[in-house]
Amino acid sequence: MYYEDMEQLRKLDRERIRLSQAAAVLHWDQECYLPPEGVEDRAEQLAVLQGLAHEKLIDPRLGELLDKLDEDVPPAVPPAENEFPARDFLRVLRRDYGRARKLPGDFVRECAKAEGLSQAAWIEARKQKDYAAFAPHLEKMIDLARKKAEYWGWEKTRLYDGLLDFHEPGLGVKELAALFGPLREHLQGFLKKITAQPQPEGAFFHQTYDSSKQDTFCREVLAGLGFNARRGRLDLSAHPFTTTLGFNDVRITTRYGKNDPLSGLFSVIHEGGHAFYELGMDPSLRSSCLAEGTSMGIHESQSRLWENVIGRSRSFWRPWFPCLKKYFPDQLGGTGFDEFYRAVNTVIPGPIRVEADEVSYSLHIILRFEMEERLFAGSLTVNELPAAWNTAMKDYLGVECADDAEGILQDVHWSMGAFGYFPSYALGNLYALQFWEKLCTDIPGVEEALEKQEYGLIHNWLREKIHRKGRSAEPAVLIKEITERELSLESFLRYIKTKYSELYGL
Ligand code: ZN
Repeated sequence: MYYEDMEQLRKLDRERIRLSQAAAVLHWDQECYLPPEGVEDRAEQLAVLQGLAHEKLIDPRLGELLDKLDEDVPPAVPPAENEFPARDFLRVLRRDYGRARKLPGDFVRECAKAEGLSQAAWIEARKQKDYAAFAPHLEKMIDLARKKAEYWGWEKTRLYDGLLDFHEPGLGVKELAALFGPLREHLQGFLKKITAQPQPEGAFFHQTYDSSKQDTFCREVLAGLGFNARRGRLDLSAHPFTTTLGFNDVRITTRYGKNDPLSGLFSVIHEGGHAFYELGMDPSLRSSCLAEGTSMGIHESQSRLWENVIGRSRSFWRPWFPCLKKYFPDQLGGTGFDEFYRAVNTVIPGPIRVEADEVSYSLHIILRFEMEERLFAGSLTVNELPAAWNTAMKDYLGVECADDAEGILQDVHWSMGAFGYFPSYALGNLYALQFWEKLCTDIPGVEEALEKQEYGLIHNWLREKIHRKGRSAEPAVLIKEITERELSLESFLRYIKTKYSELYGL
């Protein structure tokens, strides 16, 4: 019976995933190619497909099979190499099923409707720099997020923990505060030292860069990094993203800036890092709920590792800079390697998170985490939020926000009700460096490999240790297993302080 039941359960899981992937194709098309007037029909198509996928997830047959299989455990033989990890599958699917089941249908529909209104209000409010117009929607989204965590079964005093746990299983307010508090202090102090130093010129940033040439260069880099064009695509969209449409089909997008030859490229490398993770899953996990990144933080560690640790390193640029110069001889002909490397790693604190450098980035995240924590604890109100935001900006980054558009209204996340999501970006930095230090001990000569544009050993290490496991290993288990310690600040701080002390002569 066990094997038939398992087969049946896997079929139900697979059908749901196929529906979600079909919805993802439509969504990808909407972001990349859809003519403007197609939006209305597309919204309805997406709503139908997503509704069907949700129904599949809360199908009572799934619950019955999960219960039966929990009791009817197969003989306790250790799983063979490349065998489907059935116990992990049951654990993860039970969690997904349990969460979805606990939300009443009316509540799910109310959330979807409120989210649509809230996002539209946010777009308009940001345009008008008018926080007051968005505030009632934000209030509503916070209220719904509270209810959601309550439905999931979290106590009233720990609702934010519930939201955090959804994005990063196992990490709550207490754990994050213990990491982010000291991290903030270190970064604040270090940033002050850096900003007291003279800044590099980087005059080449103020010239014009043809976007079709940028595109050709980006494709050359992406192929050079080992992105398999038979298993994915690169397209253009207003906001860069990665989406998985199948085991052999991962799409990434970017956008090109006229005056900056690198922002499009760094998006390509960032999304490429996400894609390598998605494409590195073990074939045994194919079209199951395990064939996904194990958490938002671990996913972000992969994109940040490629974008920042590798993509902003000297060794990486040693061979790629001459190549970039060939595409833009007029703009870059007079720029030396050291000048270029310094400009790629300039640290200038600014109000906008997505434009932040490696040193100040995590401070933007910690600020958001602290705001969310206070909002859900009830020690900060929606009306007090902009003032609290601006004070923290000044305090942490030394930055004045000119208006709410470049302050409190800059991110889309809250308008979508995605509370508890922000910490994954900073966690991504921490995970990335802890993995990277271990990778460098395991593979001597990584720098030399980068200088020769050889990325195979890095890919193999990441795939073997992280990617192929998908969701079968929880983030806390993964980091401990690979690096033999729990997640901490050490590696990240060591990296930041070494790299930027040298760059800024500290
Ligand atoms: Zn990312």
